[in-house]
Amino acid sequence: MNELEVKELKKKLLGESKNVYACINEEEEKEMEAFASDYSKFIDACKTEREAVKFAVEEAEKAGFSEYKFGQEIKKGGKYYYNNRGKSLTLFVIGSERLENGIRISAAHIDSPRIDLKQHPLYEEGEMGFFKTHYYGGIKKYQWTAIPLALHGKVIKSDNTQVDIVIGEDDSDPVFYINDLLPHLAKDQVSKSLGEGIPGEKLNILIGSRPLYEGKEIKLALMKLINEKYGIVEDDFISAELTAVPAFKARDVGFDRSLIAAYGHDDRVCAYPALRSILEIQNPENTVMVILADKEEVGSGGSTGMQSELFCDIIKDISATLGANEGAVRAASICLSADVNAAFDPNFGEVYESRNSSFINHGVVMTKFTGSRGKSGTSDADAEFVGYVRNLFDREGVVWQTGELGKVDQGGGGTVAVYIANKNITVVDLGVPVISMHAPYEVISKADLYMTYKAFKAFANN
Ligand code: MN
Ligand code: MN
Repeated sequence: MNELEVKELKKKLLGESKNVYACINEEEEKEMEAFASDYSKFIDACKTEREAVKFAVEEAEKAGFSEYKFGQEIKKGGKYYYNNRGKSLTLFVIGSERLENGIRISAAHIDSPRIDLKQHPLYEEGEMGFFKTHYYGGIKKYQWTAIPLALHGKVIKSDNTQVDIVIGEDDSDPVFYINDLLPHLAKDQVSKSLGEGIPGEKLNILIGSRPLYEGKEIKLALMKLINEKYGIVEDDFISAELTAVPAFKARDVGFDRSLIAAYGHDDRVCAYPALRSILEIQNPENTVMVILADKEEVGSGGSTGMQSELFCDIIKDISATLGANEGAVRAASICLSADVNAAFDPNFGEVYESRNSSFINHGVVMTKFTGSRGKSGTSDADAEFVGYVRNLFDREGVVWQTGELGKVDQGGGGTVAVYIANKNITVVDLGVPVISMHAPYEVISKADLYMTYKAFKAFANN
């Protein structure tokens, strides 16, 4: 064989994952930049699931969606959303074809790891005021010390009125802070394991230090200020959901600005393209649904998590109204479980299996299975569906790759895929590769974000 023949045979027989930049033209790069800029605005505005739902409802109404009530009439081409307690959202557009052809579902989550306040948070000690906290989701606790934090959330007062709180995001706002130990005195701390260096009960948030009277009563002084600003009293914290999130804004990373750092890419970096794909859809053949779920980071339980019956209740209701058999609808439905994967990081290359990892700038990543210790806990997509998605993306010019979450037996994780698959719906995981996942400031690539958007659009329109 000559050199040319070898080249051709290679191209024909051997697989190769491609860099997005080798596959897109100038016009697409412009689109990619515009999408990245829209996304950065979204992620700065939506740091909690409540804020993401509010944003999505506003955008949906602008795009002609209306609020759905159980049992209501629906029509082909109709665009609806179901707002579940302000914390999760289901959007759907009724297709022109029979519902028994199945629904094209994309499901992302809009909660992210963070630091929640306890129900009796406020105290003073050592001449400083603090909030007690309980972290939410899988975090490396030491990463959340010594960074600027903002408080977000809702308080229900004794008269049942509600107060929304966001403080620490505006440049003129104060921020909040979790103390760490100075290296000079950290001899014992640094000899501990990384996981034990900052125990959960040390994640106390510094909120002030000015006494009320004769150098005393710091707690009371802080409660007085909080009361003047928000009209709440100490017992109102009991019926509150207040959370501390990083006060960082999304920023481009690198001389070439090819990457974006932000808090909560996992999983709003999938939620946003999924949302955009359904907002932009016009008269689809198949019925399309996008779910923005809560509670994924704590196991998807509860009424707003993906394990809730709500998901099936909605499908059941639409099926009944359109005279379709619900079981048949679910059996024919297909779903992209839209969640992030760990991008290969050469700084920690030893935890990845590089032949099966996702790489930055290699496009949207399809994850056939998740789980840990012998695929435990995964729904593991079937070859037929992976084949369908693969061929669809190739046809539609979506640059994609496959990825496994780390080496075998290195750890692992799960997504909402299994809860949807358990309802007899065909599912595969699909999303953006992330660097430093679950850190207060995570990194993704604009090219991968753009290809994820293209992937959801292709899925919804085919
Ligand atoms: Mn996730
Ligand atoms: Mn996560």
